[in-house]
Amino acid sequence: MNSSHKQHPDSHAAMSIDVEDWFQTENMKGVIERDRWDSCELRVERNTMRILDILDARKTRATFFVLGWVAERCPGLVHQIASMGHEVASHGYGHELVYSLTPKQFRADITRSKKHLEDLIGKSVLGYRAPCFSITEWAIEILQEEGFTYDSSAVPTIAHDRYGKLDGIETRTPIVAIRDGFYEVCVSCIPVGQRGIPWGGGGYFRFLPYAVWKQGVRAILRSGRPYVFYIHPWEFDPLQPRPTGLKATTNFRQRVNLQRCEARFSALVRDVNWIPICELLDTRKSAAAPIPALPLVGRRVEGALP
Ligand SMILES: [Zn+2]
Repeated sequence: MNSSHKQHPDSHAAMSIDVEDWFQTENMKGVIERDRWDSCELRVERNTMRILDILDARKTRATFFVLGWVAERCPGLVHQIASMGHEVASHGYGHELVYSLTPKQFRADITRSKKHLEDLIGKSVLGYRAPCFSITEWAIEILQEEGFTYDSSAVPTIAHDRYGKLDGIETRTPIVAIRDGFYEVCVSCIPVGQRGIPWGGGGYFRFLPYAVWKQGVRAILRSGRPYVFYIHPWEFDPLQPRPTGLKATTNFRQRVNLQRCEARFSALVRDVNWIPICELLDTRKSAAAPIPALPLVGRRVEGALP
């Protein structure tokens, strides 16, 4: 952040990109069936390259939560992300809402994508973000068993029709140990009581004026809390296909201000000092104040696991 708006010395901002294509969003689910994905125009590679260029111009590193389906079709892109020093993490394989899967299906989805990413980059993949933030409590134990050390899917917001939730997560403690050795890194919200207004990206970032957005980011960082932002490659692509049959509200969610996104993102990259999420977590682990633990630690949801 520039000198007139200093970040709190203990606060850090983490940049993240959920690497998926335009036809894989929840918005498109009603009009593009999964078995048609392979017939859709693949635009994720060039859109992600654009993001990589913007980050590179500011010597900024980020976390890329790559969908396994995309990694299988664009291995060169995963190599490129890793070779530029970014953190490669997992967005699962098939972009299915976690709470719509059985635990067994979830385990299969995350192990398939994790193994593929690790084979590509030759390194362990430690971080996971659930499609559409659809994390749910039983999934945490499975993530840890499969070798992940953090999840970044919780959005401690007041209400959103699609987000999952973890009990006890709140805006004022956005990084918590939810099992021994496993951490939740929340996507940022502006506090309203114990929960908040989503301030981490997506349609909210595209809809609000940039100056307003930046003020919110600064307020979070000045408070000493970390800031976690996310964006998708398809948000940089106003020329993406427009399938017929989308409801007006869904069309709005997918398309609002796509044409302004790249300039806004470039400004945000310029205006804040960013690190990848793994480094944010390492910084918090080595800080004097310990990461708070949530009651979720050691809790087992009866009958939920296979
Ligand atoms: Zn996604």
